[in-house]
Amino acid sequence: MIGRLTTASRGFRSHGSIGLTAEARGMSVVRSVLLRLEVRQAGRASKCARNKNHAIAKGQPRFVVKNHGPAQGEKGYCKRCAKLMISRAHDALDGLEADLS
Ligand SMILES: [Zn+2]
Repeated sequence: MIGRLTTASRGFRSHGSIGLTAEARGMSVVRSVLLRLEVRQAGRASKCARNKNHAIAKGQPRFVVKNHGPAQGEKGYCKRCAKLMISRAHDALDGLEADLS
């Protein structure tokens, strides 16, 4: 619950400088749809989940994709694969945006 409050207050702050807040206008804070994605520093040396030949050194950014559904767990990807995945996601989002117009 504390985590939810923190997320909400972060959204509140980011919209707070433009006159009325989203909450004051009766709108909810814009919900992020990128719930499963994160970039974290690798706590230890590891391998990329897409290609085991891609090493991720300790301290390097690791692109973390959390599993769907009730199963816990996540997979980590190297910077190179992450950029490719994010580029694909950009294309998918552009497609969704185009479908709305
Ligand atoms: Zn990789």
